[in-house]
Amino acid sequence: MGKIRFLAALLAAKTCGLGLRLLGRNASYLPGKVAIKLCPDFLGHIGRPETIIAVTGTNGKTTVSNMVADILTASGYDVINNGLGSNINAGVASTLIDNSTITGRAKKQLAVLEVDERSSLKIYPYLEPDYIVCTNIMRDSVTRNANTDFITYIISSAVTARSRLILNGDDIICSGLGSDANEKVFYGVEYRTGGAHQGTELKDITYCPACGQELEIEYLRYNHIGRVHCSACDFRSPALQYRITALDRDQACFTMVQRDLTETYPMVNDNITNMYNTAAAIAVLSEFGLTPEQIRSGLSSLHIVSSRFDRETVGGKPITMQLAKSWNPVACSRAFDYLRCSEGKKKTAIVMIDYMVDHTENVCWLYDCDYSAFADPSITRLIFGGPRGKDHIVRCMIDGVDKDKIVTTEDLFDTVNHVDPSDADSFFILYDLYLVEEAKKVEALLKKRIEEANQ
Ligand SMILES: [Zn+2]
Repeated sequence: MGKIRFLAALLAAKTCGLGLRLLGRNASYLPGKVAIKLCPDFLGHIGRPETIIAVTGTNGKTTVSNMVADILTASGYDVINNGLGSNINAGVASTLIDNSTITGRAKKQLAVLEVDERSSLKIYPYLEPDYIVCTNIMRDSVTRNANTDFITYIISSAVTARSRLILNGDDIICSGLGSDANEKVFYGVEYRTGGAHQGTELKDITYCPACGQELEIEYLRYNHIGRVHCSACDFRSPALQYRITALDRDQACFTMVQRDLTETYPMVNDNITNMYNTAAAIAVLSEFGLTPEQIRSGLSSLHIVSSRFDRETVGGKPITMQLAKSWNPVACSRAFDYLRCSEGKKKTAIVMIDYMVDHTENVCWLYDCDYSAFADPSITRLIFGGPRGKDHIVRCMIDGVDKDKIVTTEDLFDTVNHVDPSDADSFFILYDLYLVEEAKKVEALLKKRIEEANQ
């Protein structure tokens, strides 16, 4: 009976996918949704590729998942990937449906799947990935994900003994995932970033998870990412099997000590969060069996997905596009701080985050963000676009940002009219994941304004 129901669900899903494609519509979610509706344990029946690499975590999972899939493809592997689609169970099912024959057999034998943390229980018990990479666990979308304890509980409950875990060893929350039954590999970044920002941001862990004593901090890079130990018991950040030990910006490369090898790799992007993402990708690819030479060659042909990070120069002045995900305090705080650390003495930033049509929506997450980076004297003008202008002004003032350099406007495209190109040496557009198209338009308007000012 189960098999018949599965085949009926598969047929319905394939028909649905075909129909959507004929209509020129996106088929990365609905076919899987239909399949799971008709057959709730669909993922337990669909043909499983021989090897599955799952990538999860609060921040960086799309980047890491794409990086891993791209390097495997560059190395000659035929990979299926949900990189352009949904990362919840329906999206994963849609990807596997695409990859299956009419009887449900897998056509390709290697899958790289980005998995939403909250969907772990609906995916891992069925698919039992060979590798699960976790980039980090931080507070995010509080109304959906609650707190980090809740998310780690969900992931750990879902993981089976078959999965080898590739974990961020500099994230004490992430490194505790899984159980003793799981083989674990830890990666991290060992070189110290100079002039760490002493921000006001909250930490997601303060006390020893083993005994409850306050943790001793050896080094914190941002939020709770760093190295800690407990003085009351033997709990400490785990030893790293893959660690980036040095960065050479002039040569655009970095050094990684991986198990008993020391290797040099080309740098994709020097943003610290992307160094962690790169470390995660190298760790899982090496464990999978790629050689350092294959990884090097794959990395040199990569660039970070341009919807997340982009830079170009207009009239001799750089414009940097940077994603700053709303409801994700750490991602936003990192984007704000990247702006502070970037070169320039007179930076103008257009910030378009938390764009809610419903003005009554809760704004609590803004108080988990660290706005103090905006207080840096190198940032001379801050233009907030969207309906939350006054909320941003309040948050800025609490974190010591001079109110006189802030402008707000409800109209996203009006933000550009408040830019004075002659009074800035660099420009930044920080934008929400849901405002990619608007951000591109703002960028085009900004370029035009800079070019006109240069004439
Ligand atoms: Zn302890």
